Amino acid sequence: MTQNQAYLYSNEEPSNSQKSRMIEFLKDKHNISELIFVKDESITAGFRLIAGSKEYDWTGEGRLKQFKASLDEIKFEKDVIPLIKEKIDNFSTEVTGTDIGRVITVSDDIATVSGLDGAEYGEILLFENGIKGLVQDLKEDEIGCILFDEGDDISQGGFVRRSGKVAGMPVGDKFIGRVTDALGNPIDGLGDIEADDYRPIERPAPGIVERQPVNTPIETGIITIDTMFPIGRGQRELIIGDRQTGKTTIAVDTILNQKDKDVICIYVAIGQKASSVASTVNTLKSFGAMDYTTVISSTAADPDPLKYIAPYAGCALGEYFMEKGKDVLIIYDDLSKHADAYRTLSLLLGRSPGREAYPGDIFYLHSRLLERSAHLSDELGGGSLTAIPIVETQAGDVSAYIPTNVISITDGQIFLETGLFFSGQRPAVNVGISVSRVGGDAQAKIVKNTCKSLKIELAQYQEKSVFNKFSSDLDEETKQSLQFGESLMMIMRQKQHTPLSRHRIVIIMTAALGRKFAGLTLAETEKLSNEICAGFEEKHDSLCKKIDEKGILTQEETETLKNYIFA
Ligand code: ATP
Ligand code: MG
Repeated sequence: MTQNQAYLYSNEEPSNSQKSRMIEFLKDKHNISELIFVKDESITAGFRLIAGSKEYDWTGEGRLKQFKASLDEIKFEKDVIPLIKEKIDNFSTEVTGTDIGRVITVSDDIATVSGLDGAEYGEILLFENGIKGLVQDLKEDEIGCILFDEGDDISQGGFVRRSGKVAGMPVGDKFIGRVTDALGNPIDGLGDIEADDYRPIERPAPGIVERQPVNTPIETGIITIDTMFPIGRGQRELIIGDRQTGKTTIAVDTILNQKDKDVICIYVAIGQKASSVASTVNTLKSFGAMDYTTVISSTAADPDPLKYIAPYAGCALGEYFMEKGKDVLIIYDDLSKHADAYRTLSLLLGRSPGREAYPGDIFYLHSRLLERSAHLSDELGGGSLTAIPIVETQAGDVSAYIPTNVISITDGQIFLETGLFFSGQRPAVNVGISVSRVGGDAQAKIVKNTCKSLKIELAQYQEKSVFNKFSSDLDEETKQSLQFGESLMMIMRQKQHTPLSRHRIVIIMTAALGRKFAGLTLAETEKLSNEICAGFEEKHDSLCKKIDEKGILTQEETETLKNYIFA
């Protein structure tokens, strides 16, 4: 196409008088004097005119689409009929041109486009065959765009249109219990999901005045974490460790533990095998956790652009619930694969690589995401969004680029270790270097008081455990102290998918720190702790409820608990 030609697509050739009217219009608006007719049988009525970077859609189908778009603007509330009437009356018979661009190149997940001067960063572009892309790179004379579908059906020189919409995620209550892709389309075979709203995937994080301190716990049901690294609502706690160290399991168990606690959970799978996601969904289903959970999945086979936007889509859904005053827990599993997807896209877009070949803005990318977790002020409804991002390390190296980045953005990390995992200590939490920076304020008083000496006892045990090698020569006191330490480590072994209620954690830890399990084998420990819990629950049901609901016991009630255990 040269600058001086316009193209007319229609099923029927226009009459001479129609032609001359069009040329007059083209001369006036676009300084174009030549009109080329292209027969297009797919157009049933009317015509489509393309002149320079404008498209005038006068086809029957196009007009219907424009009419539908004008109706879509109406919010369906009570008095909707007058609004519809007004739209019909005002529907213009004139067609204003829309911007149109051309595809310059298309390759792996990326298209470059010319024209579309008004396109904005983050806007959705519409290609042929319904393929969508996202503007990621604005240069003087071209736009770099990432594609949400395979680019095979896009041809070089083909048309691109602006959508006028920024990338977003449909949101609504109906998303609970469903599995969707990164664009919010259902992939669980349960039919369409009715959305209440459409929210941009990128949004500024709540400001300081819009927040309140983290003061309510969100419990994982995992002894090690709830006693020593408590997480509060609105906090960001990282789970970090090598591959196959139980990272996903901790996240999933945390979701299982939110049953009947009025917390909405969102699990975002980024770049995982489809089979892993399916098995996670199955686990959630079989424990009844899908009743309050949404899974957003971008598998390893999905295009990188989908992996890149998945966590933002999940966050947008989380914010929707948070702003309605709900407590939300969101898991990003995992951000290493997210960083890899973004690295691929950036390199393909021609940006210069930085450390470990990641683009320079990867830190900003992750902080923008995690800063959106918050505990909103009471004026804003008091909702919260707690984030548990997961990061995978290579050979335990926490000083690599992405781990250091995410560690510095979050409020603490739970570090999992391969050595511990294979020695049978699962969850394989390294107590020495794990930390939770704000959750302490949120921890239930009773748990805090019961377990305040736990970290020190464990640290002492770890110091002394080197003497274990000389066990035959040890004096009685050292031997006993080692046995006690071992019993603490043992009590923290917890099978997957068995989160414990708060009162069980309090009972077990009161017993363990009172040396009840010292010297016992693992099987004996498990049996005894179960017996104690079941017995106390039967006898003092009201105390158990009080621990779960109020998180506090009087001096007298604590004595009752101790007397029961040590009698
Ligand atoms: P990946 O790096 O592949 O994502 P991951 O770190 O997320 O792995 P998981 O998939 O959670 O690890 O767990 C790895 C294996 O360890 C699984 O087979 C899981 O069943 C087992 N596992 C995890 N935690 C426990 C536990 N507490 N008790 C027993 N088995 C466990
Ligand atoms: Mg995993």
